[in-house]
Amino acid sequence: MTHLAPNSPHARDVASVLHPYTHARRHLETGPTIFSEGSGIYIHDDTGRAYMEGASALWCASLGFASERLAKVAYETMRRMGYYHIFRGASNEPAIDLCEKLLAIAPVPMSKVLLQCSGSEANDSALKLVWYHWNAQGRPEKRKIISRKASYHGSTVATICLTGIPDFHKGFGMPFEGFLYADCPHYYRDHEEGETEEQFSQRMADALEEMILREGPDTIGAFWADPIQGGGAGALPPPARYFEKIQAVLRKYDILMVADEVICGFGRTGNMWGSQTCGVVPDIVTCAKALSAAMQPISAVLMNERIFQSVMTQSDRLGSFVHGFTYAGHPVAAAVALETLRIYEEMDLVAHVKALEPIFLRAFGALKDHPLVGDVAGHGLMGGVELVQDKAKRRPFPEGQKIGAKVDAHARERGLILRTTADRVALSPPLIITEEEIVEMAARLRGALDDTFAEIA
Ligand code: PLP
Repeated sequence: MTHLAPNSPHARDVASVLHPYTHARRHLETGPTIFSEGSGIYIHDDTGRAYMEGASALWCASLGFASERLAKVAYETMRRMGYYHIFRGASNEPAIDLCEKLLAIAPVPMSKVLLQCSGSEANDSALKLVWYHWNAQGRPEKRKIISRKASYHGSTVATICLTGIPDFHKGFGMPFEGFLYADCPHYYRDHEEGETEEQFSQRMADALEEMILREGPDTIGAFWADPIQGGGAGALPPPARYFEKIQAVLRKYDILMVADEVICGFGRTGNMWGSQTCGVVPDIVTCAKALSAAMQPISAVLMNERIFQSVMTQSDRLGSFVHGFTYAGHPVAAAVALETLRIYEEMDLVAHVKALEPIFLRAFGALKDHPLVGDVAGHGLMGGVELVQDKAKRRPFPEGQKIGAKVDAHARERGLILRTTADRVALSPPLIITEEEIVEMAARLRGALDDTFAEIA
């Protein structure tokens, strides 16, 4: 901390801010990078340095940084009313319009929308809905939830249990009982010699069925998955026919399918929803992030009629739907989200991403010739670059080598912010990226890979 100028924002930061997913002690030494403004796909730090955002800042900034248009909508909504809640039957027009719009664009017919502020809250609420549903159906024992290893679904007490990353559980005494983790369908790394993607998907589905039978089908309430596996797995697309085979098992044992569209929703994968790209037919959808281009904290849970019928049954029994957050349906956040969806319509978002998809996959796919890269795969403007020590054996680097962190550090030097896991670079640039910017971003990543290769040689 001593090297940070007294009273600088950096010194004041380390004196006061506890940062999520940051080494608390090391941060006292390093201090923060303070970001001050942005435009397009570029974010600027307070030294004036501009970085390309290869991950849309936590998969968020679908429209890039800064927006007069969304700012005006927020300002006008605040000027008119600012806040009112939607508890006990109160409502506001932005919330109504937004829910109506979400139902109109839902990947499968949905019945109602529950609004809140974050992806974690959406998944948390969806989890309560799953339990509420089975209780309403007189099957309270259907409580266990299956998510997947390396999945990230949030940081609340419940959603960190859905999250299949042991490092995130350590120190908190998590996960609670009743959370199970199916295999992460990482075809490239885990397929056997000669095994096709489809055969691999079948193996995943068979393993899921074994797990369900072992636990007792009557005890499993839902299966939770993001269509393209984001945070923990590093933007990993499912192998061919994976969800078709998984859902055949779920249907057999009357297990609900929850699609976590927090990253994949709103054009990211080349369709409005990742569910459409990956063949998921969900009972419940959770979404956030690009819902408002992340300019306001807002998320949504979309539920089908079957779930809503259960909610009504519970209201009859218990007096009301006893769940909600103060900022649910916040008019300012809802108005900004609604305007974001209008912008998506005007820019013909899905067609725009579809048109960029081959350029994106070609530019980053070309990295496969790099000695550190084993595979590149993705859909739309979301993909992952697999970092390997041994290409022939598809073997990753030992975790201690922190290869992802090294690539990340070199990319920063080259003006590119990345999202890396231990052995994968996850790409999800702002959806407004141009063809030229995609090519430039891939060139910067290649440079960072070269620097990393030279460092470890
Ligand atoms: N679900 C997925 C797939 C996510 O990637 C995230 C966050 O990155 C979440 C849920 C949690 O969202 P939030 O950080 O808004 O709570």
